Amino acid sequence: RTRWNRVLGVLKEFEEACSTSVGRLRQVVDAMAVEMHAGLASEGGSKLKMSLSFVQKLPSGNERGIYYAVDIGGTNFRVLRVQLGGKRSAIVGCDAERQSIPQELMTSTSEDLFDFITSSLKQFIEKEGRGSELLPGRRRDLGFTFSFPVKQTSASSGHLIKWTKGFRIEDLVGRDVAECLQQAVNKKGLDVRVSALVNDTVGTLTLGHYHDPDTVAGVIIGTGTNACYLEGMDAIIKCQGLLRTSGVMVINMEWGNFWSSHLPRTSYDVDLDADSPNPNDQGFEKMISGMYLGEIARRVILRMAQESNVFGPVSPGLSMPFNLRTPLMSVMHEDESPDLREVARILDDTLGIPDVPLKVRRLVVKVCDIVTRRAARLAAAGIVGILKKIGRDGSGGITNGRTRGSSDSNMRRTVVAIEGALYTNYRSFREYLNEALVEILGEDIAQHVTLQVTKDGSGVGAALLAACHSSNI
Ligand code: ADP
Repeated sequence: RTRWNRVLGVLKEFEEACSTSVGRLRQVVDAMAVEMHAGLASEGGSKLKMSLSFVQKLPSGNERGIYYAVDIGGTNFRVLRVQLGGKRSAIVGCDAERQSIPQELMTSTSEDLFDFITSSLKQFIEKEGRGSELLPGRRRDLGFTFSFPVKQTSASSGHLIKWTKGFRIEDLVGRDVAECLQQAVNKKGLDVRVSALVNDTVGTLTLGHYHDPDTVAGVIIGTGTNACYLEGMDAIIKCQGLLRTSGVMVINMEWGNFWSSHLPRTSYDVDLDADSPNPNDQGFEKMISGMYLGEIARRVILRMAQESNVFGPVSPGLSMPFNLRTPLMSVMHEDESPDLREVARILDDTLGIPDVPLKVRRLVVKVCDIVTRRAARLAAAGIVGILKKIGRDGSGGITNGRTRGSSDSNMRRTVVAIEGALYTNYRSFREYLNEALVEILGEDIAQHVTLQVTKDGSGVGAALLAACHSSNI
């Protein structure tokens, strides 16, 4: 009995430390907006990088023709072809080929990497049917999605700052990745021009905006998390003097690295961070994204097992870092069978804990719920932070020198493009996020805000950007 009380104590303490009252979320919203300001004011002014994408125009919808993209950002690599019919929303055709990146390539040389990419591209182009031959004097335009931290120097160039997600190709760090791809393409004798270098969130925003011009931001919540949005040039203090081709630019926030003392941090987060290969880095991401949620839950369950005997002796499976992947955690969370059969199966098969009684299974579900609810609500606060920064949260504030009213009548329709398996495949996560958005904004304002799921924005959006940066038009 006292042991059961101890387990409940662990749960209660965890739940309290994860509290995301609407008051707390509003503090996170404010902190996000403040950090965005600071990151735009000066280089290194905030943990938010607020990287310039140099994308100052998004596709108008009038683009025509066939455009390509290669998309590399994690375990998969894709080549795509998009055919545009010149009428907004009419993507006439889209073919893609996906393959997983051979493990040894992730730590090889840039020559091997680009040879792999261009060989795939060459095969892809050679397989094309008739009708896709080039007109004389034309080249194929390609968008290159490269989802690692890049310092852009133009919409079609930028150098790699550092590798993440298990990649380590040292000789590419510091080099212009678009130029490297262009050279490799030339060496293969392909008539391809790398006309856009794109971060995946920028691709998401671009695709969302193509379908719906009220789209102002792109958010990805998958293995990692990041967001970008359309900012007025006047607000980007750190790029004064830059050539202006329009009044706006897409800013890649790199929001995974956001940090604020208002974030509800638990001892489990502190330990996870300390044990990670990048301590003090990506603090927001470590509370929100798919790479970490299962691991936070595992740490809480481990603690419960150590404090009591309700899980029997502590199993090696439960002690193994990252052994509970987020997709399995979501299966346990959403187990609707009366006896929580899936929970029992996963505890047994994955964590090596057999014969868990029903009331302990319920406890496990509760842990998953707390972890995911906090993650989804913090992501919602991040999104509202963006809306606040650009004056779309209905709170009034000053835009273009005019004071805006606080009534919802002058609130413009606002769309945020969103992608990533956490939002699209994990129902509870999506529902908690949507619910928190309404709680923070209030129903009157929230009715003007739409989260729109896009698909393959990282690839299709890059092809769209190649189209609008094409020299052929
Ligand atoms: P990316 O790796 O490009 O971010 P995804 O958006 O598909 O790709 O995200 C994959 C991540 O999402 C995985 O790392 C996994 O943690 C998580 N994930 C995938 N499916 C689910 C699911 N059904 N429930 C919860 N998390 C999931």
